[in-house]
Amino acid sequence: MPCYTGFMPDGNRFFICSDLGPHCSSEKCSDVSGFLCDFPVAEGKTCGIPLCASHAYEIAPNIHYCSAHLLIWNEFRDSGGVKRELSNVVPFKGGKVNSTLTSALRGEGRMKWTSHILQC
Ligand SMILES: [Zn+2]
Ligand SMILES: [Zn+2]
Repeated sequence: MPCYTGFMPDGNRFFICSDLGPHCSSEKCSDVSGFLCDFPVAEGKTCGIPLCASHAYEIAPNIHYCSAHLLIWNEFRDSGGVKRELSNVVPFKGGKVNSTLTSALRGEGRMKWTSHILQC
């Protein structure tokens, strides 16, 4: 039976052995995973690695990326890529995210903001 350890919301460490599904994929983390990385890695496919609450980075409502993909996303966003790719199609004002953009961040729909990243 797998064992898990992590921190409770109150900061105390917990240790539990039970069948709670996959562990968080982050290095040296043995926490229970409650999230999956939503980063699009291929057509209709997401990264999908399991992440715990502290290693799942929420970049938009209900969109979580792992730390490696958070870096790619941050680079893309900071280079102005989001504006360039998405502002023509959906309103993207001051980081406001709508459902169309949410789909794009998952790699769904017509917008392929990751296409140039995936190809390089
Ligand atoms: Zn973790
Ligand atoms: Zn990922």
